[in-house]
Amino acid sequence: MIRRIDLRTDPGTDPGGPAEGAVQSAVPRAEFDVDAAVEVVRPICEDVRERGEPAVAEYSARFDGVEQTDLAVPRAALTEALAALDPAVRAGLEESIRRLRATCAAELESDVVTDLGPGARVTHRLVPMQRVGLYVPGGIAPLVSSVLMNVVPAQVAGVGSIALTSSPQKAHGGLPHPTILAACELLGVEEVYAVGGAQAIAMFAYGAGPCRPVDLVTGPGNIYTVAAKRLLKSVVGIDSEAGPTEIAILADETAEASFVAADLISQSEHDPMAGSVLVTPSERLAEETEAELDKQVSLTRHAERIRTSLGGRQSAIVLVDDLEQGLEVVNGYAAEHLEIQTADPERWAARVRNAGAVFVGPFTPVSLGDYCAGSNHVLPTAGCACHSSGLSVRSFLKAVHVVSYTREALDEVAHHVVALAEAEDLPGHGAAVRARFAPTGAPDEPT
Ligand code: NAD
Repeated sequence: MIRRIDLRTDPGTDPGGPAEGAVQSAVPRAEFDVDAAVEVVRPICEDVRERGEPAVAEYSARFDGVEQTDLAVPRAALTEALAALDPAVRAGLEESIRRLRATCAAELESDVVTDLGPGARVTHRLVPMQRVGLYVPGGIAPLVSSVLMNVVPAQVAGVGSIALTSSPQKAHGGLPHPTILAACELLGVEEVYAVGGAQAIAMFAYGAGPCRPVDLVTGPGNIYTVAAKRLLKSVVGIDSEAGPTEIAILADETAEASFVAADLISQSEHDPMAGSVLVTPSERLAEETEAELDKQVSLTRHAERIRTSLGGRQSAIVLVDDLEQGLEVVNGYAAEHLEIQTADPERWAARVRNAGAVFVGPFTPVSLGDYCAGSNHVLPTAGCACHSSGLSVRSFLKAVHVVSYTREALDEVAHHVVALAEAEDLPGHGAAVRARFAPTGAPDEPT
């Protein structure tokens, strides 16, 4: 069901270990990459830019099978959805919101004021985004948890205008899934659209019908949604490329195979394109995990989707010489989610450089983080964890340097400005400083 990649050193033929770069190039990746999907969504995004609402509605008809007269979800649908929500689901949402709000509030940074001398001040001021568009996946499963993961940090950051969108559902009269609508109502989000995929990202970027353009688009999605974010990121801000999900598990002999298999399955359940990777030096754990996968997958509701994901090129059991080499593999892979199931998990977790989020020890499964850990589940995929972070309250803030100098403070550094301006052959820059010290209007040397 899942392929093996053996990176262990053969002492006979490979006494020096794998060649430089061999570990990096051996990490499993999907065959269909985001760049290929960009070419699929380019005409969709251009069409939405040119024709707006009618183009969006046409793509909803083509990809979601719904006929739309209005992209916006009526207010009454939100209140009705919350009134009809299962109390157990509501309690779960409320607990998840409580935990997320606590971490977001704790992570909210303050302005930083630096005084560089008398009258010379630089303030690093944090300003919330004015208007954001939040994407909630709804094609394969109604990811109500993604409503919370997007909305709570935006609200804690102080964003003024929040719009949210999710795929229209044929089974729900062309509206997003009612649980998604109920979560919007619970959080007080009133501007909600029934649009999914690339056309939703283009709607946010360019505006369409009732939806005004936004400054920033955040949220996870499938390969088409993430490709549209990559394509349009010069038009609109994006958080990270949070595409088809991935899990890597770094595990040793002490790990419980039934836990490892269950966690690989739980990520594969998201998408046939999801990547599930076990990295271990233990042949025993590899064999027992394979046996557990065979046993557990057939018992799951979405066995076919899971088999496609586990059987794809993006999934593998990677055998390594030891945990040191395993760490090199997981840092090279830069998984969206990385679990550490080893004898001393905190020690290995402290040495992880590249991962969207790290889940430490046998009782911190990724599915806890998907819903209720207090961490955010919108995380970078496809190796982007090398340079990007997951969604947080910081994603909804931008920093502005506010610079304030008095005459005396400027006088103090004026000769440095003049010298550096001369070095760049930009004498007008120096003159702009000198002008402030010329007593009669003629540019003069500062004192
Ligand atoms: P989605 O809501 O992003 O996409 C659904 C939309 O895709 C549909 O509305 C449709 O308009 C469009 N679409 C479908 N087929 C298409 C085609 N052939 N061409 C163009 N557009 C097409 O996502 P989904 O399908 O529900 O999947 C959810 C995804 O989100 C999964 O891949 C899951 O792993 C991922 N996810 C990622 C994270 C993360 O943080 N990285 C978190 C949660 C979920």
